[in-house]
Amino acid sequence: MRDIYRCRVCKAFTEDRFHCGVEAEPFLDGRRREALSKLMSYILRHDPGSIGLSLDSEG
Ligand SMILES: [Zn+2]
Repeated sequence: MRDIYRCRVCKAFTEDRFHCGVEAEPFLDGRRREALSKLMSYILRHDPGSIGLSLDSEG
């Protein structure tokens, strides 16, 4: 998974190294991004109550 950067100018999150004409600051490396994605998917699919969420009939 690609790294995520944060633009120093507009504060947007991006996969691009440069944004608004300047080098963006590293925010989340690809390995951690993938691990976080898997954790969030697991929680939302199997145990949303573990983080205080309750889903309606449409998820
Ligand atoms: Zn920007």
